[in-house]
Amino acid sequence: MEQQRKPIVILGPMESESAYLIENLDHPAEKDFGSYRFTEGALFGYPVIVGRTYIGMVNAAAATTLAIERFRPRCIIIQGTSGAHDPSLHQGDIVLGESIVHIGRYFAAHMDSGKGCDYTRWSYPGSEIVTDGELKEIDVLHSDPSIIAAAAATDYPYGRVIRGTIGAADIWNRELDVIARLREQLGTDCEEMEGFAVAQVCAQMGVPCADIRVISNSEWHPGEEFDHSYGRYCQEFCRDVLEKLIKA
Ligand code: SAH
Repeated sequence: MEQQRKPIVILGPMESESAYLIENLDHPAEKDFGSYRFTEGALFGYPVIVGRTYIGMVNAAAATTLAIERFRPRCIIIQGTSGAHDPSLHQGDIVLGESIVHIGRYFAAHMDSGKGCDYTRWSYPGSEIVTDGELKEIDVLHSDPSIIAAAAATDYPYGRVIRGTIGAADIWNRELDVIARLREQLGTDCEEMEGFAVAQVCAQMGVPCADIRVISNSEWHPGEEFDHSYGRYCQEFCRDVLEKLIKA
């Protein structure tokens, strides 16, 4: 019973990716650890903690570690905006990160000076991850299947919801040849800057996690520039996903 009341932690990097969830918490109470703010409260009568990670992999890893150590959550959901790699995706569509890959951990091939840069010769070996006491090179991490199943069964009025692969790194790609290459090589449907870091810490600490992203920009479609307002759509969706998880 006690086990079942372990809180759910939901993370958002930016203000525009966390404020709506915080506003929706019942009995909110702020807990600051250094510069990381967590707001403890309840949703649908269940303990939920919203954490603002700030942008990037290091911030995301630090916030995830703190959340696990301080709150012992039953699971962690990272959510927010992302850029499309799949040309069929548009602003407002949601990607459920069944798979999460690191798109910044690449090894280049030697090139002589004056020869420029050839991203087609970059390879993407796995990250060193210790799970169950064993050191492995892992190139893909996975969201918890029960969270993905709940999300896939959640209604969403602003676009499509697909299951897919989310790429993460401290990189904002805008060159379509690079985006197409990542999609071809790693199968990415979209990119952002936190998911793999959260998933890696969770994997190493034995905590189920999920990455859920809204498309806020696409280089494939002129005019689909980054827009903060999509962060709200993702939070609304995640609130409904939490309702499904909590009431299940
Ligand atoms: N400071 C910028 C927006 C933030 S950029 C501005 O106000 O214009 C980085 C954040 O947006 C990260 O948290 C990342 O997860 C997310 N993001 C959205 N689209 C992205 C993309 N195409 N590539 C990488 N990160 C993206």
